[in-house]
Amino acid sequence: MAQDFPIAIVGAGFAGIGSAIQLKQAGIESFTMFERAGDVGGTWRDNTYPGAACDVPSHAYSLSFEQNPNWSRRYSPASEIQAYLLGITDKWNLRDHLRLNTAITGAKFDEGRGTWTLTTNQGDTYSARVVISGVGGLVDPATPDIKGLKTFSGRMFHTARWDHGYDLSGKRVAVIGTGASAIQVVPSIAPQVGRLKVFQRTPAWVVPKGDYAYSDSAKHRYAHHPWTLNLSRLGIYWLSEIFGPMVFLDAPRLSSLGERMSLAHLHKQVKNPELRRKLRPTFQFGCKRILISDDYWATFERDNVDLVTEPIAEIKPAGIQTADGTLHELDAIILATGFDLGLTHAPFPVTGRGGKSLDETWKKGAVAYKGMTVSGFPNWFILMGPNTGPGHTSVLVYTEAQIEHALGAIQKLMSEHLKYVDVRQEVQDQYNAGIQERMKYMVWSSGCNSWYLSEDKSNHSLYPGFAAEYAIRARHFHPSDYEIAPF
Ligand SMILES: Cc1cc2nc3c(=O)[nH]c(=O)nc-3n(C[C@H](O)[C@H](O)[C@H](O)COP(=O)(O)OP(=O)(O)OC[C@H]3O[C@@H](n4cnc5c(N)ncnc54)[C@H](O)[C@@H]3O)c2cc1C
Repeated sequence: MAQDFPIAIVGAGFAGIGSAIQLKQAGIESFTMFERAGDVGGTWRDNTYPGAACDVPSHAYSLSFEQNPNWSRRYSPASEIQAYLLGITDKWNLRDHLRLNTAITGAKFDEGRGTWTLTTNQGDTYSARVVISGVGGLVDPATPDIKGLKTFSGRMFHTARWDHGYDLSGKRVAVIGTGASAIQVVPSIAPQVGRLKVFQRTPAWVVPKGDYAYSDSAKHRYAHHPWTLNLSRLGIYWLSEIFGPMVFLDAPRLSSLGERMSLAHLHKQVKNPELRRKLRPTFQFGCKRILISDDYWATFERDNVDLVTEPIAEIKPAGIQTADGTLHELDAIILATGFDLGLTHAPFPVTGRGGKSLDETWKKGAVAYKGMTVSGFPNWFILMGPNTGPGHTSVLVYTEAQIEHALGAIQKLMSEHLKYVDVRQEVQDQYNAGIQERMKYMVWSSGCNSWYLSEDKSNHSLYPGFAAEYAIRARHFHPSDYEIAPF
């Protein structure tokens, strides 16, 4: 029965791989995974910079149906997470379903046949009854718009495209940006480079990470008594939920608890008062992404590291010129400038019912029902779509709920031989009115500038609430929310 029900999974990161495993567990084999890169892994294939690691503990930052007792550390390095993803890909024989180096470049829905026609960069097409879009939210590196960027005569690369062939030893290196990647890369390369200049536009709130290696006996215990691994996972999950309001609510008294914790960390790590002043954020705790590190701030006390807070005016062939006229001569520039936020625009031209385009539909901001389905785009399920990003916990809690929802819809379509399910516009509108109403009470709306916000300052990226609440709301497919079309 399943073979006449082709399913396309676009993207083979955590979301695509997780979806494929869940389909297989449900006995559905009629799916094809399209991955534009040369291998699976997404984030963890691309981010290989020194110090790259998860910032949610590994016991929680892994799939609940593929737990791993062997993580080497509380926060595992990127290479280990990538090895985990490669391992589960092979374990579930997903390579039989994979088309690598194949980007989906467009999708069009045929309402009469109830099928999506996907076009690929290989020049062929694929006809799918259902599309699961797992193209990622932080996948395309953002290049900053700085005058003269292309004129630099030294080496320049983005953290997500690390040049492992370039030896930083003894070099004069700049890092532009002080976000989540920068705070991992800066302490990792500081001992190796000759001189490191970190160009900071806005300082970040940093809290201690508390990273440590798991002993062999701990790993043995997690492997042989899986309930201990479950317990560890649950403990991490509920702790992040308990502290969640401190991170996402616009509640100054709660925020001040976080601020005090972070400032105590700053005082411990940095003795120089002037340096401390420059590193201290002036916006409310949680308004921008909170970073975790045990050694980032302390790195600025090193003799070979400078914090540059003067704005960048221009990049010249010899280095970076700041607004005060100083030319910082450099051998290499590392762009730790984050990503183009992928969850708020169509990843490629998507045409739904009546020739409706997804980009056009999202012109005033990306909206979807529970971040997953968009009215007029039937049988299309987005993983990590609008308003599904967490500020305080693992993305995978959200992804797994979304996979369950898509699977529920697929099982209904297959078992009742339906043409399509299309979320009702009024259901979607009501859901999103509620989301935007709640945004008023969230700290992200408290006045700072962040990548969470669109140009008009609306927030179409984060979920305003607890992860558990989202998961409970999102994971079940309720047919009454959808227009159901039979053949
Ligand atoms: C450096 C870094 C650290 C992070 N750390 C954490 C963390 O600690 N905890 C956490 O919860 N989250 C973290 N995140 C967020 C992270 O992106 C998610 O947790 C998760 O990895 C996303 O998985 P995904 O499959 O949705 O997307 P991705 O991993 O981005 O995978 C998407 C895949 O889709 C492919 N693709 C895109 N477009 C197309 C197309 N048109 N056709 C075919 N294939 C396509 C891409 O090549 C990619 O392989 C981090 C992100 C970054 C960048």
